[in-house]
Amino acid sequence: MNYIIFDLEWNQCPRGPEYENPRIPFEIIEIGAVKLNESFEIVDEYSSIVKPRIYKFLHNHVRQMLNYDETLLRTGRPFDMVCREFMKWCGNDYIFGTWGTGDLIQLQKNMDYYYMNKFAEPFKYYNIQSIFAENYEDLGACKLEKAVVAMNLPTEEEFHTAINDARYTALVFQNLSKKHLHDQYTYDYYHEPKDKASEVFAFHRSYSEHITRGFDQRTDIMEDKEITTFRCYKCKRKIAKKIKWFAYNQNSFVSVGHCWYHGNQKGIIKIKTSNSGKIFAIKKIKPITKKEVEDIRNRQNELREKRIEKRKKH
Ligand SMILES: [Zn+2]
Repeated sequence: MNYIIFDLEWNQCPRGPEYENPRIPFEIIEIGAVKLNESFEIVDEYSSIVKPRIYKFLHNHVRQMLNYDETLLRTGRPFDMVCREFMKWCGNDYIFGTWGTGDLIQLQKNMDYYYMNKFAEPFKYYNIQSIFAENYEDLGACKLEKAVVAMNLPTEEEFHTAINDARYTALVFQNLSKKHLHDQYTYDYYHEPKDKASEVFAFHRSYSEHITRGFDQRTDIMEDKEITTFRCYKCKRKIAKKIKWFAYNQNSFVSVGHCWYHGNQKGIIKIKTSNSGKIFAIKKIKPITKKEVEDIRNRQNELREKRIEKRKKH
């Protein structure tokens, strides 16, 4: 299996968001990628400029960041042609690696625009930014340039061209510890699972994740038994809830469970709306400290009091 480390540059409507095409707010203008083999050695590179079709002039912010302009973009080829070539270049046996979550979202949004998205469901990839953050906790999910500098890697080439950023991301990836790599994958959920049988259950060393299928309504989600069941992230046993699910904010629910063997755990259900307009959820369960249990309990009480206050006023 190969690792395809890729990076994109994209443009947005130069006249502001009110004039943008809502189906494609960000138009890809460059794809750059590096292919690594199983020993993390570079075996090939891919780089292409995309000739824009929606936004032919650069937005000011994009212009300031990029090292090129419309003159170069006009020499590019249409997105569908470049993207097809890129996917062919990726081959059949690969896993993507990107800096952050944005590139996979924009790649698929642009593919959707041209009705050519072949990724129908969630798939695994490596978010190298978050793997870096695990190793460099004080820096966290920082910018690529900061990470390259923090690792004392050479920075001769300029940043913010897709191919250079792909090379830098690959360089960071090559130099990170691979001890836990088998466990450090992330699921891309641009497309939610299509049915119950294809829902995703991922058990990692420090958390578990459940990506549900799409529902028609928000209320269906918290009525689903499987979603509200609290299972220990480690032993998968059904465990008792110390704090039942409560609405933490507009789009998330929180609960606390306790496993006799693996201690206190926080459950969080985030409600998402998919591109097809369906409602689905991401449930994560991870260990927490006693102090964090108290913080959650306090938050729950605070919200309860606010609700009572509100009712009194009406
Ligand atoms: Zn357990």
